[in-house]
Parts: sequence; C-alpha cells; structure tokens
Amino acid sequence: MNNSISKQLYAEALQCFPGGVSSPVRAFKSVGGTPIFMERGAGSHIWDVDGNEYIDFCCSWGPLILGHTHPAVVAKVTEALHKGTSFGTPTPYELALGKLILANNRFIEKIRFVSSGTEAVMSAIRLARGYTNRDKVVKFDGCYHGHVDSMLVKAGSGLVTFGISSSSGVPQSLAQETLVLPLNDVAALEQAFADNPNEIAAVIIEPIPANNGLLLQNRDYLVAMRQLCTQNGAMLIFDEVISGFRIGFEGAAGYYDIEPDIITYGKIIGGGMPVGAYGANKTIMSHISPDGPVYQAGTLSGNPVAMAAGIAQLSECLTPNFYENLAAKTQHLVDSINSFCTERNYLCYLTNIGSIFWIVFSHDHAIRTADQIDADSMKYFKALYHELLNKGIYLGPSGYEVGFISSAHTDADIQHTITAMKEVLMVVFEK
Ligand SMILES: *Cc1c(COP(=O)(O)O)cnc(C)c1O
Repeated sequence: MNNSISKQLYAEALQCFPGGVSSPVRAFKSVGGTPIFMERGAGSHIWDVDGNEYIDFCCSWGPLILGHTHPAVVAKVTEALHKGTSFGTPTPYELALGKLILANNRFIEKIRFVSSGTEAVMSAIRLARGYTNRDKVVKFDGCYHGHVDSMLVKAGSGLVTFGISSSSGVPQSLAQETLVLPLNDVAALEQAFADNPNEIAAVIIEPIPANNGLLLQNRDYLVAMRQLCTQNGAMLIFDEVISGFRIGFEGAAGYYDIEPDIITYGKIIGGGMPVGAYGANKTIMSHISPDGPVYQAGTLSGNPVAMAAGIAQLSECLTPNFYENLAAKTQHLVDSINSFCTERNYLCYLTNIGSIFWIVFSHDHAIRTADQIDADSMKYFKALYHELLNKGIYLGPSGYEVGFISSAHTDADIQHTITAMKEVLMVVFEK
C-alpha cells in the first residue's frame, strides 16, 4: 500500500500541531506507523489522500451511524447552509431537533444543546452539583467522559480511592472531589456512599462502557446503582455520548429500561457535526440558566447547520427496523469470526452489543472491569491492525477502541470483512 502523500502531510502537520493531530488517538501511537489522511467518504467506504480505499469501521468514532455523505444528511445540511451558518438566536432547526428527540425518549423532558460530548458531561456534572449542593462525584475505572478536568482521574491501588489526576494541569484539589470505583462492584459503591454521607452529588457511568474496550455491565448492577443513588440523594448521570441513539433511539436507558436523573449525548446526535446535549426531567432542568442558577452557555450552541445534520440523521434512525437491521448485520460478523476463532482455539473473540463491537484477545468471555484487560494482549491488535489496513479495512487505531457498523455497510462489505479478518487472524496467530 502506498502512503506517501499521507506521510508527507503528517510530516507537515507535525510542524503545526502537537503530535501532528487535533485529538491524541488519531496519532497512531498505540499501533505504530503514521496516521492516514482521509480525503472523502461515501456510505461505508472511505478513500485516503493516496487513493487507497477502505471499509470504514471507525465511522468517525461512532457519530456516522448512516455512514458517510448520506443523501438525507447532505440535503438537509445544504438547505441549512444556504440560509446562514449561525445567528446566535434561536432557530427552527434547533426546535425541530429538540422536539424530535423529546417525542421519542421517555427518559428526559427537556434538553440543552452544546457543541461536544465533553461539554455535555461538564455541564451535567455542574447541574448535578448545583441541584444537590454537593461537590463529590463518583466515576468508574474504565469509563471515559471526555476531557473534563474532574473526569481525568484514575483510581489508585485501593478499592475505593480518591482521585489522582491522570493529566497534568488538573488541580489536585479538584481531583480530590472525584472518587474512582471499579465497575461491576455494588459493594464498592455502597462503601463510597457510607464513607461520604451527604457529600456525593452524582454517580456518572457509561451504562455501556465502550471507550476502554467494551465492558458490558449486568443490568442488576445498574439497577442497584439506581437504587443507591436514590437512597443517598445523588444524581445518577448516564453518559450516553457513545450509546445514545446507537443502542436503539433511547440508548442504554431504553435498552436496560433504567431511568437516570441526567443523560448526556454527543456523537450520533449531530449527524457528523459537532453537537452534544444533556437532558433531564423538567424539575432538574429548571436549575439551568436562564431559568435557574446553574450557568451554562455557548456562542455556537444549537448551530443551525449542525442541528440540520442531526435532524436528518435521527429521522433515519426512527425508520422501522433500523436498529434491528444494524444489530443483525453486526451479529453475523461477530458470530462468523467467533466460530472461526473457537475452531482454531485462537486467543481472540469479538464481543458486541447492537452495532458496537470489540476485538478481545483473551479466553475470558465476561470482561466487565478495566483491570481484566491484559495490556500485553494489545500486541495482537497491533499486528492485526496493519494487516487489516493492507486489506482495506479501517478500524480506530487502538485495541482499546470499539468498532461501529453503520446502516451503509452492505452484506458484501460484511462478507469481505469476514474473509479478510480470517486471513489476518491466521497470520497473527499462526505465523
Ligand atoms: C466521545 C465521548 C465523550 C467525549 O465527547 P467529545 O465529543 O469527544 O468531547 C464523552 N463521553 C463518552 C461516553 C464518549 O464516548
């Protein structure tokens, strides 16, 4: 595969941007080599600047549930674009997207649009703190919530640990307001509430943790979490930036039928444009400015062009059998690879929920916590990654990242991928 133009552009980008990128994981650090510069996409396929073609399973890290340049999205964005890119006033587009979401979601009554998932989480945490008049927040090892200061915190060695920041630039005093617990552990959460009476404002979780592998939780655990939050007067925040509109229109809240207090959205909600959102019931949302004392604002929030993309994409998601078809396609890929790996006793399998899948290099079929992932197994992903690229399959460049299937992936794409993956797995495990 010829990558000469990508390599040249990357060399230039290194002179402009830290690490040559606008977001760190794009730099290919965990798989080695240099990032590939993309030029265009159509449906499930993308083309790089050197003219190589790939089937795309990154889908812009999740947002593109319809694939690239879906005609309905292009048409709606074009319509909005010609009317003006931004007004700093309310627009009908924002109202239309708000109504579309609220009419099809049993878990929130009001919503506020922002411009990224990070911003949604940051605002949701402020709302929870403002609503409860408490400061501490519980998060879980293995969940990612964007680059919000108080969420860039890792657990130490103990079971219940006050946070030490995993990024420089975060004040220790702020990190100390974050408690980090292991996933899948009700007792740890009970203990945290017992140790911090009337101090915990919120428990935030990715109900479907999909940013550090795919750490599927038991519904019982999430139900227990819901009960503990209610008993202790803490807000339960579901960070559905990745799971929202992905695992059904109502996301993980709908999938598990559990009502959190606040939900955050991002990724799919903007149809490939920068949009985030958070929502809750009317009482909780009445605390947001200008109705209430929790300040939150944005010059480009509710941007009409971005809202138009969201309207077009989410309208497609509401068509009959949309999610069933996506899940069936994904299941076919997963089952085919898994029976192949089982037959050959490879240290590998795929796990999935709906149209999210993750390649696991382990024989453990119940990976629910971050520390069950063997860092050393990422060497297999590294080997697999470059072999797949050579065969025209594009995944996010890290073994901790999940893959996404869009409605644009055809049966032929899936079949091609199954064949390519089998060949690559043989190279990785039998060479
Ligand atoms: C992607 C993601 C974020 C951050 O969203 P950005 O738009 O990248 O700021 C936060 N939470 C979860 C669960 C995510 O998947």
